Amino acid sequence: MRLTKAFQPTLKEVPAEAQIASHRLMLRAGLVRQTSSGIYAWLPAGLRVLRNIEQIVREEQDAIGAQEVLMPTLQSADLWRRSGRYDAYGPEMLRIQDRHGRDLLYGPTNEEMITDIFGASVKSYKDLPKALYHIQWKFRDEVRPRFGVMRGREFLMKDAYSFDATYEDAVASYRRMMLSYLRIFQRLGVRAVPMVADTGPIGGDLSHEFLVLAPTGESGVFFDAALEEQDWLGRPVDCDDHESLATFFSTVTDHYAATDEKHDEAEWAKIPEERKREGRGIEVGHIFYFGTKYTESMGIEVIGSDGASFHPQMGSYGIGVSRLVGAIIEASHDEAGIIWPASVAPYRAAILNLRQGDEACDAICESIYGTDPENLLYDDRSDRAGVKFNDADLMGHPWQIIVGPRGAKEGKVELKQRATGERFELSVEDALAKIG
Ligand code: ATP
Ligand code: MG
Ligand code: MG
Ligand code: MG
Repeated sequence: MRLTKAFQPTLKEVPAEAQIASHRLMLRAGLVRQTSSGIYAWLPAGLRVLRNIEQIVREEQDAIGAQEVLMPTLQSADLWRRSGRYDAYGPEMLRIQDRHGRDLLYGPTNEEMITDIFGASVKSYKDLPKALYHIQWKFRDEVRPRFGVMRGREFLMKDAYSFDATYEDAVASYRRMMLSYLRIFQRLGVRAVPMVADTGPIGGDLSHEFLVLAPTGESGVFFDAALEEQDWLGRPVDCDDHESLATFFSTVTDHYAATDEKHDEAEWAKIPEERKREGRGIEVGHIFYFGTKYTESMGIEVIGSDGASFHPQMGSYGIGVSRLVGAIIEASHDEAGIIWPASVAPYRAAILNLRQGDEACDAICESIYGTDPENLLYDDRSDRAGVKFNDADLMGHPWQIIVGPRGAKEGKVELKQRATGERFELSVEDALAKIG
């Protein structure tokens, strides 16, 4: 993308309404604009990040055999009356009426709808297990929308649902999802630590929240450093084998990790001092096993191998896709701006032409840009170098390819790595190889 053609409205002033760094930076970098309280429009660069996150989520969900669907944002109130949640959900639910006076709602989550869809087509244990997910906008009328996209009212969530015949199979589904989540967050370049979460009236120990560590997080977190040091992408786990999943799962649950809601001082005291990590975190994911709660309340049954019908076991698994954009920035920025992990960055690199109109500079910039115009951002404005440096730092591209008249004469460019500030003087070829 050529910057002169792009819609990238950066702001020089720090927006007064934004209290935390990620919100300020998202507004300043022109990633989003608020359209009303807790509701945001995504501008081109922000949308590219959102799409990159979605794609990683999609690949890793597909990898464990979950299948993508797309359910609507609007749901019928009757669906929720069947589960008993229409009245129970409370004021976070946005309730709407159509012209015929029928009650609708803007979905805050999709357990009812997916259970209904599943129940209408799956009739036999032979069709289990199944895992379905979608990436769709949700609406929750939060009392206090704040921190930009971090606590929006309309927000993008990936929510998955599993259906199994037995408790053992449901546990395997839960563990598969946990692995998928750990891989997703690692690929996104953030540390999200799985922590024991409240299971509410259902009980048991099968609920975990994933928290990105950041001082502005809303939850207090306590965890064993061993959980940070794992390489989930490098770990061979056979997702079809319950034993292998159990071994993997114990590498997580063997280590203490809890938010302030579930913190247990007695257990905490047993952890060696040097491994104790305490701080704050942002909830970016939540996985939950809830058994037959919805299949029972909504009357969904399938026929078992013995001919008797039973209620399938379920779990649900959410990731805050739009919240993650804020959370990643919260965990990865400095005074000058955003520092995108390469996997989610809107562009691989920015090309900064320090003297637009200089024959050698223009030629080198064009030749670099031509290699991948989709994923490179060419700052071809006639602005001063300082403006270009500041904007590139603010936007947080992993690399800056800096092209000035002196180097250009010798076919050299300067490559700056945003995260480290390291600079390299390289030939065009070597620079392109280095940014990968
Ligand atoms: P929170 O505790 O932050 O209110 P939640 O526990 O109500 O979140 P879940 O029902 O677990 O949220 O939804 C799954 C995921 O959706 C959360 O882990 C979070 O990442 C994201 N999410 C929930 N509410 C919001 C919101 N208002 N804005 C953006 N993302 C959200
Ligand atoms: Mg909530
Ligand atoms: Mg929560
Ligand atoms: Mg939650």
